[in-house]
Amino acid sequence: MVAANSFDVLIIGSGAAGLSLALRLPAQVRVAVLAKSNLNEGSTLYAQGGISAVTQAPDTFESHIADTLDAGAHLNNPETVRFTIERAPEAIQWLVDLGVPFTRSEDDFHLTREGGHSTRRVLHAADATGRAMETTLLDEARKRENISLLEHHIAIDLITGSKLGLGHNRCMGAYVLDRNRQTFVACSARSVVLATGGASKAYLYTSNPDTASGDGIAMAWRAGCRVANMEFNQFHPTCLYHPKAKSFLVTEAVRGEGGRLLLPDGTSFMERFDNRGNLAPRDIVARAIDHEMKRLGEEYVLLDISHKPAPFIKQHFPTVYARCRELGYDMTLEPIPVVPAAHYTCGGVMTDLHGETDIAGLYAIGEVACTGMHGANRMASNSLLECLVFARAASEHISATLADTPDPVALPPWDESQVCDSDEEVVVSHNWDELRRCMWNYVRTDKRLQRARRRVDLLQQEIQEYYSNFTVSSDLLELRNLAQVAALIIQSAQQRKESRGLHFTLDYPHTDTSKPPSDTVLTPDNQQPVDLAM
Ligand SMILES: Cc1cc2nc3c(=O)[nH]c(=O)nc-3n(C[C@H](O)[C@H](O)[C@H](O)COP(=O)(O)OP(=O)(O)OC[C@H]3O[C@@H](n4cnc5c(N)ncnc54)[C@H](O)[C@@H]3O)c2cc1C
Repeated sequence: MVAANSFDVLIIGSGAAGLSLALRLPAQVRVAVLAKSNLNEGSTLYAQGGISAVTQAPDTFESHIADTLDAGAHLNNPETVRFTIERAPEAIQWLVDLGVPFTRSEDDFHLTREGGHSTRRVLHAADATGRAMETTLLDEARKRENISLLEHHIAIDLITGSKLGLGHNRCMGAYVLDRNRQTFVACSARSVVLATGGASKAYLYTSNPDTASGDGIAMAWRAGCRVANMEFNQFHPTCLYHPKAKSFLVTEAVRGEGGRLLLPDGTSFMERFDNRGNLAPRDIVARAIDHEMKRLGEEYVLLDISHKPAPFIKQHFPTVYARCRELGYDMTLEPIPVVPAAHYTCGGVMTDLHGETDIAGLYAIGEVACTGMHGANRMASNSLLECLVFARAASEHISATLADTPDPVALPPWDESQVCDSDEEVVVSHNWDELRRCMWNYVRTDKRLQRARRRVDLLQQEIQEYYSNFTVSSDLLELRNLAQVAALIIQSAQQRKESRGLHFTLDYPHTDTSKPPSDTVLTPDNQQPVDLAM
């Protein structure tokens, strides 16, 4: 007889990575997929641009590989890049077979071109590719009898052999908080997969939904996994600055069509940073805006396209125009306030080409992982691709090894005996704010990094005290994870004594060409010996 909370495979996360893996597993495998919020909520739902793959001549794998390595400032693992790109056409066909409605032109896919790609190779479903994928995958998962979909279930921590005092460190399941019932569940499984997305919520402004609090990275680290390249965080240059416009991106096409970035006093500044001015690459623009905001102590800069005719603006940017109008701005008449926003976490839990981590039975796929695909900078539309390819790779490895893995065991229940309810929720929200501001303000020079590290250390101590003494809530769990991830980002940034890709430090403004590029790998104190090459 199978216990209610016992599965063959426990997948934590229901985005492109988690759902694809669930669907790729054979029908006789009992799978649970957890989502800490609604099942469809996660970065996947908001992806607009598309997914990259070589599908039409004269494009070639070699060209896609070369572009990816260039964008990644050659910190990528070439083997991973080739592995991912060569498997892309199969991943696309799989999505098509499931019914994802990619936009077509005549008898083939319509392809767009995005930053870093030397040719058109981005498939898309109009301007809502992620929504089309997430909806299709979720609809399909709902039809499968072997898949249990558990929404509003937040994983707290992984359960490993060493945590239970057994003589091994295999992952055996996870403690989970059922948010609706406010009950704690110990889920056991033969294999556990982290598909929890990125950690962009570590920063004050982000394009990501609230789910992106780095839970998977923090859980893996606490369980004893290495993490890599956490200093590489991609920022989108223009997110609308308005208290009610959380995460609303203003497309880069506004600058492409003549929009200019201005300081609040109306002065143009991009030409001081790059001779391509407002059309410089995304990371240069984001950094220039950040530099000017900090230099002048301003809360935002302006984006102005009001010199173009109103019908042109309304026709080209209907969504941005409508959202701005809702918030009281008319971009046909005036500039709009914008800030850069954290967009993508390139680093994460180190894995091999099966998605396996340092801990036996534990996999990490999608944005939570560091597979070596993105190097120092993710190329646009390569991330959904990575989710799909590694979901398949992990499913094949899990299927091939499942028969040899130990049966799920009864796990000790979550211990709540030592804690009581807190009446100081305000402490949690205050610490959230302080942490995200600290990450926003301090990470650019060695001195600032030291300052940030001291603050984050203090916050971590305070949060740990809170965590040990009071009943856990999902806000507290996320705050604890974000503080852990912030510490890892700062530590990684401190280790890299050069500027490369997305990582820029005023103390070492150049790329170190004296030696081959190397990953920043952090090893937790409790790590068991492993042999995992990146
Ligand atoms: C606005 C925006 C636009 C983008 N555009 C593109 C694009 O055009 N092309 C592209 O390739 N990429 C794009 N990206 C990036 C891409 O969308 C993400 O990298 C990708 O969707 C990540 O998928 P994922 O499955 O790893 O995670 P997500 O889709 O983020 O899913 C994470 C899942 O994990 C769950 N979860 C997290 N923590 C826990 C926990 N503790 N317990 C239980 N469940 C948990 C969440 O509930 C969620 O179900 C964009 C991202 C954003 C934000």
